[in-house]
Amino acid sequence: MRLDITKGIQRKGVEVPFDLVESWGEDRWNGDTVTYLRPVSFSGTYMLADETVLVRGMARALIQSPCARCLAPAQTAVTARVEEAFVRDSGEETPEGTEDSYPYTGHVLELDDAVRTALLLELPSRILCREDCKGLCAQCGANLNETTCSCQKDLPARNPFSALASLLNEDEEV
Ligand SMILES: [Zn+2]
Ligand SMILES: [Zn+2]
Repeated sequence: MRLDITKGIQRKGVEVPFDLVESWGEDRWNGDTVTYLRPVSFSGTYMLADETVLVRGMARALIQSPCARCLAPAQTAVTARVEEAFVRDSGEETPEGTEDSYPYTGHVLELDDAVRTALLLELPSRILCREDCKGLCAQCGANLNETTCSCQKDLPARNPFSALASLLNEDEEV
């Protein structure tokens, strides 16, 4: 995602609107493969002040990632506010106070890193394919949203009356 700032160079101190759309493929995030399902959009304004470009805008994406419980593809619509400073790369050491900014050369800003980071940070830490996803059976791996398995029957039954019954039995013994 590249932003041509020629207009802003000619009119320093003026906010110049931009509207960008680009198709992205896959990405890695928290050990998972995430896919951008729709073209990513980023619109806002930029402004030049000396050699620094301030970029402000909203990024939008539809991101697919594996469900935390059943691993089926889950979709999340993400909107992220992006507010970053780009400082012209003079080839010298980074000036003090600009460590958090992105470098640029010429009249084009490379926005991918800033937009990507903002979007992925908006993803919830646990993404579910649906609110009540039943997940996978811990024993046989069956997807419990699609099927039932017999594993659960092997779990010891929790019968509230069994505790009471043992109490009654103890009474009888007295
Ligand atoms: Zn799921
Ligand atoms: Zn099972």
